Amino acid sequence: MKIISINAGSSSLKFSLFNMDNESVIASGVFERIGIDGSCYTIKFNGEKYKEEVPLKTHADAVNILLDKLTSMHIIESLDEIGGVGHRIVQGKDLFDKSVLVDDEVMEKLESIKHFAPLHNPANMLGIEAFRKALPNVPMSVVFDTAFHQTMDEETYLYAVPYEWYEKYGIRKYGAHGTSHRYITETVKDLLKTDKFKLISCHIGNGGSITAIKDGKCVDTSMGFTPLAGIMMGTRSGDVDPSIIPPVMEAENKTIDDIINDLNKNSGVLGLSGISSDMRDIEDAYNEGNPRAVLTFNKYVQRIVDYIAQYYVRLGGADVIAFTAGVGENSPILRKLVCEKLACLEVKLDEEKNNVRGKLTKISADDSKVAVYVIPTDEELMIARDTLELIK
Ligand code: AMP
Repeated sequence: MKIISINAGSSSLKFSLFNMDNESVIASGVFERIGIDGSCYTIKFNGEKYKEEVPLKTHADAVNILLDKLTSMHIIESLDEIGGVGHRIVQGKDLFDKSVLVDDEVMEKLESIKHFAPLHNPANMLGIEAFRKALPNVPMSVVFDTAFHQTMDEETYLYAVPYEWYEKYGIRKYGAHGTSHRYITETVKDLLKTDKFKLISCHIGNGGSITAIKDGKCVDTSMGFTPLAGIMMGTRSGDVDPSIIPPVMEAENKTIDDIINDLNKNSGVLGLSGISSDMRDIEDAYNEGNPRAVLTFNKYVQRIVDYIAQYYVRLGGADVIAFTAGVGENSPILRKLVCEKLACLEVKLDEEKNNVRGKLTKISADDSKVAVYVIPTDEELMIARDTLELIK
């Protein structure tokens, strides 16, 4: 069966078309600048990349062009070959603890929680609505970034703030990157051939989160009410004391929205280094001895180590530490510096094996107390797998 995974953003729509008989990607691509001048699409198929500028006023335009291109480029011969469409949704709150098939009731629930992720959920929903119109008879699923974290207990997901804030406004930890952490968990299950293990999953990309997993279930995760919390990220601050907000607001004549925007977009690696949000640039500057890059890299490592150590204790040890996403998969130096700081937990890397990028590899030394892996994540495949499972 062929299944499309969709990740719709406010001005973009990414897709991957899978052949689920062997879980291979037939074609993938992105529609960009939807609703903005200069909109275009890129489709990768048969080892070639096709790019074209086209007017894309709405997400529906992107979906209609995508479906037209799938047949006109002979990626598939007929739209009947599409057995299902899976959609990524950023926030499912406590209404969704797993992926579900889309129906009117699900759409109503999504409508009721969209203000919890105002930049993402409404955009995700535009993608669903466009596909429901274009392919009304094809089953669709929604896969939530938050669902995997719904197993956290109350003690973990509540903040130490007035309890009524939780009751009245749903203020609590929801986490994110759940689809990625679940993919890592499934992969570790396959590797160890058991589902009884303690895993610390480190998704370190432009956004980053670390999750503690026991026997396949999330125990705790570093992101919070929104993806702003936790470790230091490309442009997000991670955990800060909220009391830093008023003096900056006053001194810079900024609104609370401006400051939240600064914490999301102008902080983290970008803000501290003043160089770039991309860890490749920071690594280069670090290797040249640039003091701000050294400070940034060290702080970045420290925040990851803080969370791994916290979760090691929370889980009562760890069988596996897994590194994934852009930085986690591709930066041997980052993994080396993190694991060096975990030496007191008898974590030991094999330097040669660690010299790997983007490939499933066990990188710990044979005598390491904890197995350390690089596991390339695949959220799109997880969405397609869930969709297939629900259709079955
Ligand atoms: P992601 O959000 O998972 O797509 O990760 C994107 C980030 O991965 C980029 O912003 C870079 O910071 C980082 N990245 C990608 N390739 C490398 C690399 N070879 N070395 C270090 N960082 C990398």
